[in-house]
Amino acid sequence: MELISSQRQRTDIPEKDWLDWKWQIQNRIKDEHELSDYIEISSDEREAISSCSQVFSFSATPYYLRLADKKDPNCPIRLQVLPRKEELSVRAWDREDPLAEESYMPVKGVTHRYPDRALWYLSHVCAVYCRFCTRKRKVSQSSGTPGLEDWQKALQYFREHPEIKEVILSGGDPLNLSDHKLDFLLGELKSIPHINQVRIHTRYPVTLPMRITSELCSVLKKHFPIYLVTHFNHPKELTPLVKERIGMLVKEGAVTVLNQSVLLKGVNNSVETLKDLFYGLTKIGIKPYYLHQCDEIFGSSHFRVPIEEGVELMKQIRGSVSGLSVPLYVVDLTGGGGKVPLPANYLEETKDSSYVFRNYKGDLYEIGF
Ligand code: SF4
Repeated sequence: MELISSQRQRTDIPEKDWLDWKWQIQNRIKDEHELSDYIEISSDEREAISSCSQVFSFSATPYYLRLADKKDPNCPIRLQVLPRKEELSVRAWDREDPLAEESYMPVKGVTHRYPDRALWYLSHVCAVYCRFCTRKRKVSQSSGTPGLEDWQKALQYFREHPEIKEVILSGGDPLNLSDHKLDFLLGELKSIPHINQVRIHTRYPVTLPMRITSELCSVLKKHFPIYLVTHFNHPKELTPLVKERIGMLVKEGAVTVLNQSVLLKGVNNSVETLKDLFYGLTKIGIKPYYLHQCDEIFGSSHFRVPIEEGVELMKQIRGSVSGLSVPLYVVDLTGGGGKVPLPANYLEETKDSSYVFRNYKGDLYEIGF
């Protein structure tokens, strides 16, 4: 508890408030005046906060901002959360809805693209608005949040489509809903005989770990099994509080926790950073699942890493990190084409009765049929 308290740093905030997720949400930092309590804002950041916030809101929990370096504008936490003027430059390939989610929406909030899976968009709200968000076309907007009537229509759709085996609760952040509402939604989903599994996609374990409470764990355990996919991008995000709350999810909530990261220039595009992240995740009970190529969302080109670089990074990772800690590097195809794995090519040559491989060190090995 000592370490967790020390993250609080500001002595004027009682620990009881700091560890209350609703207090963190109510006290999110939304402008440069509040921000200056946490970091020394650079002139570029100051300018970008006012110009870019018109396009995509700026907001961050006090908890998440406490992880940022006070002085360094290139700190990986700051890069993820603070607007940059580059966000205003839109490239030819940038899209409003790169994954074409709105085109595969039979009822409000439900994207049904793959036959056996449906994504259920439940909330516009997140604790932190990530500058590379794929859904910035609607996340953070105050109007149009799906309500009870939309939920009933979505549930009816799931009931009428026996080919749907999996529902993914997403958003915005679905853990922004109260425990009571989550209990209701999970109960309804689990009562549909053909639904095999339910996944929750949430960044709250990263940006608001205090959202994971014993009460939430009881709800999740009641609807066992639940798969929770979270979104850590940098080892700085793996704090003692995160470790404590992930432990609760796994032990009290009986939840299987996985992680998907996005490969982001300046944030995590180095072997050392990714290695620390992936090992750090498995150490606290989270399986690295996907490493995503950054989607072609408008205003995010400054984050994009060339795919060749990503493949090379993953080749180095695979050579030096336990397979348990290695995620699959994928690109989600613009236009709704689905995920495609981006494996390194190790097969150098095919001979009459053997294959020649080059390993991650560049050494050649030949094996027979
Ligand atoms: S938490 Fe997820 S949905 Fe919310 S802004 Fe970040 S990436 Fe987008």
